[in-house]
Amino acid sequence: MAELCEHLRPLFDDALANGCVVGEVSAGWSNADVVLQLLPAMPALLRRQVTVPVRYYQSARTPHNRADEGFFCAACRMGLTFPLQGL
Ligand SMILES: [Zn+2]
Repeated sequence: MAELCEHLRPLFDDALANGCVVGEVSAGWSNADVVLQLLPAMPALLRRQVTVPVRYYQSARTPHNRADEGFFCAACRMGLTFPLQGL
């Protein structure tokens, strides 16, 4: 599994502690080299823990992608993504 940067690691650990499991690992996003998908959804408490250089994002469903939300580390070009329910 890809090694997460120090900025995303605390969010990842909290997600697993709150019942998330690792889904797909993907590469080559426009704003990240490595992205880890976590399932089934983002625990709400994670959003309160985001600190620079990590940014929260949310994206709506498109014909080719499901709605998702997550975090990108701008400094390390890594991301965590979660399926977004209800969009
Ligand atoms: Zn980082």
